[in-house]
Amino acid sequence: MTWETVIGLETHVELATKTKIFCSCTTQFGGAPNTHCCPVCTGMPGALPVLNEKVLEFAVKAALALNCTVTRYSKFDRKNYFYPDLPKAYQISQLYLPIARDGRVEVDAPSGPCTVGIHELHMEEDAGKLVHDPWLDQTRADYNRCGVPLIEIVTQPDFRSADQVIAYLELLKETLQYLGVSDCKMQEGSLRCDVNLSVRPLGSEALGTRTEMKNLSSFKAIARAIDYEARRQIELIQEGKRVVQETRRWDENKDATYAMRSKENAQDYRYFPEPDLPPVQLSEDYVASLRAAQPELAAEKRARYQADYGLPSYHCQMITSDRILARFFEDLVALGTPPKQGANWIMGEVLGALSAKGMNPGDMKLSAATLARLIALVEEGRLNRNTAVKVFEAVFDDDGDVETYVRDHGLEQVRDTGLVEAAVARALEANPQSVTDFRSGKEKAFGFLVGQVMRELKGKADPKLVNELLHRVLQGS
Ligand code: ADP
Ligand code: MG
Ligand code: ZN
Repeated sequence: MTWETVIGLETHVELATKTKIFCSCTTQFGGAPNTHCCPVCTGMPGALPVLNEKVLEFAVKAALALNCTVTRYSKFDRKNYFYPDLPKAYQISQLYLPIARDGRVEVDAPSGPCTVGIHELHMEEDAGKLVHDPWLDQTRADYNRCGVPLIEIVTQPDFRSADQVIAYLELLKETLQYLGVSDCKMQEGSLRCDVNLSVRPLGSEALGTRTEMKNLSSFKAIARAIDYEARRQIELIQEGKRVVQETRRWDENKDATYAMRSKENAQDYRYFPEPDLPPVQLSEDYVASLRAAQPELAAEKRARYQADYGLPSYHCQMITSDRILARFFEDLVALGTPPKQGANWIMGEVLGALSAKGMNPGDMKLSAATLARLIALVEEGRLNRNTAVKVFEAVFDDDGDVETYVRDHGLEQVRDTGLVEAAVARALEANPQSVTDFRSGKEKAFGFLVGQVMRELKGKADPKLVNELLHRVLQGS
C-alpha cells in the first residue's frame, strides 16, 4: 500500500518589539536571569496588563502578508495550566476570537508548488525558561522571556512532505523578516515550530490520527523528525496497531521521537475570557493604512528583478533572500550601476566576502555607493576586472575610498596603446619558443603570451586591448 503523509504546522514567532506584550520590560534576548521582569510579567497580585500597540500592528502586518482576513473585533483568553515557567499559572492568548483567520500562501517547494491554508493567526505571551543543571541536579527559573510577544500561526493540514514544510518555513521567515516584525532566529528561539503529522492510504480522504512533535530547533531537525515519525506511524499501522494521539518530543541525539504526554484538548485548559483586557476593536482605516504601508516582499521583488532586469532566477533568489541585501542591490541600481553588473558583483564578490568572513549582509560596512563607484571604474575602462576585485577586497572591511585607493596604488588601467604595444614587443622577444608554438597551431601558447604582457604591465592592462594587439602582431608578421 502507498501511504501519504499529512502535516499541519503551529509556528510561534517572537515579535521584534522593544518591550513586552503587556508591560514595558525589555524583550532583549538573554540578560542576567530575572532582570527583565516587573510585577505584570511575573504575575504579582493586582498587577494589570496593558496591550502594547506595536504588537497589534506587527500581528496585523503579518496577517496581511499571509493573506488572512483581519478580524475587526478580537479578544484575549486565559489558557490555564500550572508549570514553573509560567508564574501567573495562565497564559494570555486568543482562543475564541483570534486577530486573523483564513489566509493562504503559495509555496514553491523543490517537489513543486503548493498552496498552504492558514487556519488562524493569534497574539499571545511567551513563557519563561527553565534552566536544568544536571550536575547540581537543580532547575532554575528565568522569567526574562515571560511576556515577550508571540504570534502563533496555525496552518491547515496541507503539507504532504518535509520539503514543502521547509519551503513554507523559509517563506514565512523571509516574509516576517522583510516586514521587520521578527528576526526569526531559530537558534534564539524566535521561531519555533510544532509539527502535527498523520498518515493515511494514498487516495483516502479521511485524516489519520495525528501526533504533535515539539522541540524542533532547526530546519534539519524538522525534516528528519518528519521522516522518522511518518515511518514510525506507517510501521505501527502495518503491524495492526493504532497511532495514539499524543505529543512527542524529538531527540536530536537519538534521531527519534518519544512520547511526552497524551494530547491535551482545549477544554483541558479551562480557557475563559481574559477579564483584565478589553476586546481589540480595529477601525477599517487602521487596517487599510497598514495594508497601504506593506513593503514589497521578497517574492514580488524576485518577479520584478526577473521582469525588469532580466536577472537569472537563481540570482533573484539569492539577492532577495535577505532584505538588506536586496536593498543594497536596489541602491546600486539607483546609483546607475547596470543591474546585471550589480547582481554579478553581489553574487560573486559580496556574497563571497560575507561567507568567508562569517558575516550577514546586515553586518556589512561596504556601502552601495562605494561598490557603484568601483563598478563604474570598470565600466569606464579605468580599472580591469581583476584589479577591481583587489580594490574590492581592500575597501570591503571599512568602506574605503575607491578613487584614493586606486590613485595611491597606481592601479589605473594602462590604456595607452603605445605602452601596451611596447609590452607586447618585449614579451614576444623574451619568449620566442611560445611564438613558434603559437604559429605551429598551439592555441595554449597565446594565453601564455597574454599572461606575459599582463605581467609586464603589472596586471593593469585592458585585457581586450592586449588580446587585440597581440593577435595583430602575431598574425601580421
Ligand atoms: P489543537 O487545537 O489540538 O492544537 P488543531 O485542530 O488546532 O488542534 O490543529 C493543530 C494543527 O494540527 C493544525 O496545524 C492542523 O492543521 C494540524 N492537524 C490537525 N489534524 C491533523 C491530522 N489529522 N494530521 C495532520 N495534521 C493535523
Ligand atoms: Mg495546538
Ligand atoms: Zn514586565
